[in-house]
Amino acid sequence: MTVLDRGSAAHVAVVGGGIAGLAAANRLLARDPALRVTLLEAEGRLGGKIATERADGFVVEGGPDSFLAAKPRGVGLCGELGIGDELQGITPRLRRAYVARGEAMHELPEGLSGLVPTRLGPLFRSRLLSPRGKLRLAMDYRLPARPGDGDESLGGFVRRRLGDEAWERLVEPLMAGIYAGDGDRLSLLATFPQLRAAEVGHGGLIRGVVAARSAAASAQRPGPAFVTPRRGLDHLVEALADRLRAGGAELRTGVAVRGVAARVGAGEADGATLLLDDGSRLEADAVVVATPAFVAGDLLAGLEAGLAADLRAIPHASSAIVTLAYRREAVARPLDAHGYLVPRAEASPILACTWSSEKWAGRAPAGWALLRVFVGRFGQEALFCQSDDELLALARAEVGRRLGATGEPGLARVRRWPQGMPQYLVGHGERVARIEAAAGRFPWLALAGNAYRGVGIPDCIASGEAAAEAVLGGLAKWAERSFVVNSAHAVAAR
Ligand SMILES: Cc1cc2nc3c(=O)[nH]c(=O)nc-3n(C[C@H](O)[C@H](O)[C@H](O)COP(=O)(O)OP(=O)(O)OC[C@H]3O[C@@H](n4cnc5c(N)ncnc54)[C@H](O)[C@@H]3O)c2cc1C
Repeated sequence: MTVLDRGSAAHVAVVGGGIAGLAAANRLLARDPALRVTLLEAEGRLGGKIATERADGFVVEGGPDSFLAAKPRGVGLCGELGIGDELQGITPRLRRAYVARGEAMHELPEGLSGLVPTRLGPLFRSRLLSPRGKLRLAMDYRLPARPGDGDESLGGFVRRRLGDEAWERLVEPLMAGIYAGDGDRLSLLATFPQLRAAEVGHGGLIRGVVAARSAAASAQRPGPAFVTPRRGLDHLVEALADRLRAGGAELRTGVAVRGVAARVGAGEADGATLLLDDGSRLEADAVVVATPAFVAGDLLAGLEAGLAADLRAIPHASSAIVTLAYRREAVARPLDAHGYLVPRAEASPILACTWSSEKWAGRAPAGWALLRVFVGRFGQEALFCQSDDELLALARAEVGRRLGATGEPGLARVRRWPQGMPQYLVGHGERVARIEAAAGRFPWLALAGNAYRGVGIPDCIASGEAAAEAVLGGLAKWAERSFVVNSAHAVAAR
């Protein structure tokens, strides 16, 4: 008998089949194989933002292409699924990237740790910053830490410590590659709390980051910073789906949930009724909602207005990835890096261009260059009104201008991500605390996904697993209470 045994197995519904929902379902079955688990996904396929396509020998990642190895649950889950050996790191021979400024391309200086330079030598030799900008950056060693413990914007923080130029030309483009965001509005504490900790703990940002890096280096095994399955990120999705099916989970694609309501006439711990888009209903003893936050807000609107309002208030950026393949001789510039970033200050619709064929092994047939152009960021939503052909033309013009790519691409794909990237604006931490407190009042409910405590794949896996643990805890308490009540009834009846 399991801790959840209530005569018949409890039924848990997971709404959303992105990596967070899949990880939640996986953790549920790993903890209690007797559970009945139903995963409901609106699209016709699983994976959400993970969207790998194989065509003519190319591996095209329409969304993410890798994940951070240092965050434990990405590599950890792959190991548990038996695909750990399939992970590959970035091609080491070209471990560098450029920043575009005007028509020039400046190599990112060596010695960056995350967003922050830790070695002044390479930075001072680089022409990315002006002499004045370099001197201003070095003032970080002299500036005192800001007193108080309130939040501030990431941009405000970096400008304060390292100066405007270091923010605009160096840190902002690196940050935008993660959040597609406006750094002057993003929350420092919700995005990079370790930077504030470095300032407070060491009286200087660079000094603090260097100390944290040395501590981490002695604790971690060496290896690539980013990893991805050789066949593409959907290998992780397939491995999870296989494991779930083998464990008896029901994976229903092409089924959108329209609403989640506390079960009528039942106590607060007694589960929910899900309304599906075909008009049918599904009863569940517990529910993990692993959709984007604004969808979760709509689904839970009837449950608690404040919770729904907070979920809907998390803004999201829209962007698109245009993938283009050219014969190598059609690209004039040597592809001698992993790609380049375009700072917001350039006022360009392009955020970055990664050279997938150079960054990863096995992404393109010999003789071909595979390029990923990132279009659009928070605040550029008008771009999204453009047709696929227009976005394609924009990307072709970009690689024509900066890489000298000419002629028709041999492969072209446009993948749009409307409202695809949550924006953790200043105050996000308090909003998430309110959301978690409100959701926590329903022991049968937990939320998971990229909108709360990290947008990266390992964060989303951890979020799904934490949500699974939360509903398991709710079910266990319920089972305990039912056992006590039933025992009391049995004693009374004797
Ligand atoms: C372009 C891009 C590039 C990225 N690059 C990286 C990267 O390189 N590395 C990295 O670590 N992270 C990257 N990220 C971030 C990361 O990919 C995402 O944060 C993560 O995949 C989100 O997972 P999720 O499960 O929270 O959400 P999603 O993947 O959005 O999954 C939510 C699921 O819910 C479903 N759904 C929605 N409404 C309903 C409904 N009513 N009923 C049922 N189902 C519903 C959706 O169809 C979707 O499948 C990138 C993101 C984007 C957009």
